Amino acid sequence: MPLCRRESDGDVSVDEILGQVLRSAVRERLDVLTELANRADAPSLLSVARSELPRLTEGWRTLLTAHDADEKGNCPECSSRWRPQKAPCSVWRTAYEHLVAGALAPRPARHQRPAHALRPAAPVP
Ligand SMILES: [Zn+2]
Repeated sequence: MPLCRRESDGDVSVDEILGQVLRSAVRERLDVLTELANRADAPSLLSVARSELPRLTEGWRTLLTAHDADEKGNCPECSSRWRPQKAPCSVWRTAYEHLVAGALAPRPARHQRPAHALRPAAPVP
C-alpha cells in the first residue's frame, strides 16, 4: 500500500491510510500473539512470554500514564476543551477489566457482577 499519496490524489487522506495501516498492524500482531498462545509448544511459549510480556506491560503503563487523572480529576487524553471526561476513563476501566477483574478467574455473567464493579468501557469517541 503506497504511503506517499497526497490528499489531492484521491478521496483517502494520508492520515486515514496511516490510521488503517496502524490499526491493521496492531491487530495482526495481536492475532500472532493469540495464535502463539494457543498453538506454540512450551519452550516457544516461554520464549515469547519472556520477550512479549514486558513489552505488553510497558505498553499498558505508557497508555495508562497518558490517561492518568489531571489536577481536576479528568483524563487529559479523553477530555476535550468543552467536554471533560472524569477519570478513571474508559482506558483505565478497560485495563481494570482485562488485567485485574478478568485476569485470574472466568468473568461472571454481567448480572452476577457485584454492584460496585466498574462500569463497562464506553466507546472511545
Ligand atoms: Zn482517558
